[in-house]
Amino acid sequence: MAAITVTPAVPAPSSAAAAVPALPLPLPVLHSTVLGWYDAHRRDLPWRTPEASPWAVMVSEFMLQQTPVKRVLPAYAAWLERWPTPADLAADAPGEAVRMWGRLGYPRRALRLHGAAVAITEKHGGVVPDDHATLLSLPGVGEYTAAAVASFAFRQRHVVLDTNVRRVFARAVTGVEYPAQATTAAERRTATALLPDDADTAATWAVGVMELGALVCTARAPECGGCPLFNHCAWQRAGRPPYEGPARRGQTYEGTDRQVRGKLLAVLRDAHGTVGQARLDAVWPDAVQRARALDGLVADGLVEPVEQGVYRLPQ
Ligand code: SF4
Repeated sequence: MAAITVTPAVPAPSSAAAAVPALPLPLPVLHSTVLGWYDAHRRDLPWRTPEASPWAVMVSEFMLQQTPVKRVLPAYAAWLERWPTPADLAADAPGEAVRMWGRLGYPRRALRLHGAAVAITEKHGGVVPDDHATLLSLPGVGEYTAAAVASFAFRQRHVVLDTNVRRVFARAVTGVEYPAQATTAAERRTATALLPDDADTAATWAVGVMELGALVCTARAPECGGCPLFNHCAWQRAGRPPYEGPARRGQTYEGTDRQVRGKLLAVLRDAHGTVGQARLDAVWPDAVQRARALDGLVADGLVEPVEQGVYRLPQ
C-alpha cells in the first residue's frame, strides 16, 4: 500500500509543520489501526484497571521507568499494600522506601517517590495533583512522569514519550531504526502532530503506542509480521536501513560500580538497623571500587553514616 501524506490533525506552527515527517496513513486510520490493535492485544496490568488510583499509577510509572513489567508486578503490589496512599508513605522514613524498593534497581527512584509522597501530603492535601504543571513541580517527577500520570490516571491529552513510543515513531514515521539518545524537539513535534484531538482517545493512544513498542516493535527484534503498521511503516518501506547514529549505550552490569552499590545496599536493606564496615567490606574485594560505591550511595542520600565505619538506611 502506498504511503499517504496528510495534514496532521493538530496543526503545528508553519515552521514546525515543515519538520514533521509525512505521515504513513491518514490520521484517523492510523489512530483506529493502533487503537484496534491495542484493544485486542493489551496486557491486563493492575495499574491500567479502573480501580487503580492516581497514586497507584504514579507508583507504577516510577517503577516502570527502568524496570521490566514482570519484575515490577510483585513490587508494585507489595508497595501499595503497605502504602495505599501518599500520606502512608510520607509517614514512613525514606529508608523504608529504599528497603521496599528491593532489587528493582536504580534505587534513587525510591527516594524520589518518597519525596513526591511527602510533597503531595504536605502541599496538596494528600491528593495526587491532576494537572501537568503541578505534577511537574513534585520532586522526582520529570516531563515523562507528569505526562504519563496526567494521561493514564486523569485521561488527559498529553504527549507521552517513553523509549517504546519514541522507537515506534522513529521507525513507523521517521523511517530510522532507533531514535536519538535524548528526546529531540523534532520528535516532540511529530508526537504532538499524531496526538488525537479528543482527550480520552489521546490517553488510550498514548498507552496503545507504548504497548506496541513493548510487545511488537521491540528494540532488538521487532516482530514486524504481526505489526498492525506493517504495510505503512516508513522503516519497513525503506528496506529496514541499518542504524547509523552514535553507538548505543550497552547494559553492562557485571563489575560496574552499579553492581557494587547494589551489593552494599542489599546488606543495609536486610539489616534492619546499623551495619558495620566489616560487613560491607565482605561484599566486594576491590577496596577502592567499594569505597567509591559507598561514597556514591551516601552522596545520593541512599545510605546514612551514623559514626565512623557505621551506616544505615536514611531515617
Ligand atoms: S512494522 Fe516493524 S518496525 Fe515498523 S512499527 Fe511495526 S514492528 Fe516496528
